[in-house]
Amino acid sequence: MIKIEEVVKSGGCYGCSACYSVCPQKCIVMKQDDEGFFMPSIDKHKCIECNLCDNVCIGTDQYEFSNNKVVKAYAGWTKNKNKRYSSTSGGIYSEIVEDTLKSGGNVYGVVYDKETKKVQYSSSDLASFNLQKKSKYVEAELLETYKNIRKDLTNGRQVVFSGTPCYVSGLKKYLGVKYDNLITCDFICHGRPSPKLFRKHLDYLECKYKSKIESIDFRPKLIGWSRLQHLEIKFGNKKVKRFYNMKDFFFSSFLKNISLRKSCMRCDFANNVHSSDITLADYWEYKNNPNLINDNQGISLILCNTAKGNLEISKIKSRCQLYDISENDFKYVFHERTDTNYDLSRRNMFFKNFMHNDYKENVKKFYKTTSFKMTIIFYIKNLLLNVLAFWTARMKGNDIV
Ligand SMILES: Cc1cc2nc3c(=O)[nH]c(=O)nc-3n(C[C@H](O)[C@H](O)[C@H](O)COP(=O)(O)OP(=O)(O)OC[C@H]3O[C@@H](n4cnc5c(N)ncnc54)[C@H](O)[C@@H]3O)c2cc1C
Ligand code: SF4
Ligand code: SF4
Ligand code: SF4
Repeated sequence: MIKIEEVVKSGGCYGCSACYSVCPQKCIVMKQDDEGFFMPSIDKHKCIECNLCDNVCIGTDQYEFSNNKVVKAYAGWTKNKNKRYSSTSGGIYSEIVEDTLKSGGNVYGVVYDKETKKVQYSSSDLASFNLQKKSKYVEAELLETYKNIRKDLTNGRQVVFSGTPCYVSGLKKYLGVKYDNLITCDFICHGRPSPKLFRKHLDYLECKYKSKIESIDFRPKLIGWSRLQHLEIKFGNKKVKRFYNMKDFFFSSFLKNISLRKSCMRCDFANNVHSSDITLADYWEYKNNPNLINDNQGISLILCNTAKGNLEISKIKSRCQLYDISENDFKYVFHERTDTNYDLSRRNMFFKNFMHNDYKENVKKFYKTTSFKMTIIFYIKNLLLNVLAFWTARMKGNDIV
């Protein structure tokens, strides 16, 4: 308990909930802190000082179940057009889970609940899996996920878990032993923005556009995977709003690395420390490989970190278009985090302003700090995006307002 208290104090807590899940006395709860991130809170009166929480904490040692070797790497996509279109990059994740879903296994991933505006974990079957697809660039609440996974695994059920590298690492440490019936996937991770900030932003948009938000897509592909990335929000009044990523306040603060969890600012997992079987990412460096033609429908980078991960990819090969790639083609995804790329004091200042002052006023102020030149560029890109989306939707025969 002493160690996890220090980890939380130092800002090194990953919010993985391994300590919460392991505590035999149920004296740890995962609570949102002032910035909105999930942190363990301990009721010391109930604690029996068994130290199980300290032993599973990845804030003290995240390397126990990790490796930093890529067994095999690919770039590619699923040949199923619908799966690819409805996924963030090449839709490889949907192929990885297919056999597990068809055989009645459990797939644990992240969904958005429009009623509560929460981004959280859920287990899916074949019918509900679609909700898990696509990146939600927000910290996801884990709830009872680790405990449920252990139950499934000990009952012999096939399980796939997907999440941030730190969540996979936390799960592996909590489980403590290797299970043949578990497949884990993570991704190259930019970081997790605050769920409280996300909630405030959605409330602000609902108020501004006078309608309830029905759905959010952080990576819509209507005009293509690599063109003018944006946020697409569908409102209850049937209106659809598209915001070029740097023009939406929430998205731009995510991309500028100022609305992220403290542990993301100095994350060890950014240097190729992965506990998962497979790491996925958007493959932006497709130009490295002359055989790869970008048709703008999404290209995945697939890193097999274990022999098991490699076996899973070989099972789905016939359903995918895959290209072998070498270390030189993917090493761009690993880089150390320092104040140059992840400025801690800017991040702390951001939270000081946004959590304690009027949100609407702060959004206004935030835009005032953007230079005139950049404001014009973002405005033009936003306009271009909306014109392109309008014509693409018309050509495809979609309803668009
Ligand atoms: C917070 C975050 C940051 C990312 N940063 C980068 C990056 O810097 N560079 C890069 O190349 N790729 C990044 N990705 C990964 C990328 O966006 C794609 O998710 C990945 O390429 C897999 O795409 P796919 O088409 O195979 O499957 P998809 O269908 O898009 O994959 C969805 C899977 O991601 C999981 N997921 C979605 N949201 C979350 C969340 N908030 N927390 C945990 N798991 C989640 C879902 O459970 C599901 O299993 C990030 C993803 C997230 C969620
Ligand atoms: S020391 Fe044991 S009882 Fe105390 S908080 Fe940690 S896990 Fe719970
Ligand atoms: S186990 Fe996870 S949630 Fe608990 S203190 Fe350590 S890093 Fe934080
Ligand atoms: S950047 Fe690191 S700490 Fe942050 S969510 Fe990703 S893996 Fe976890």
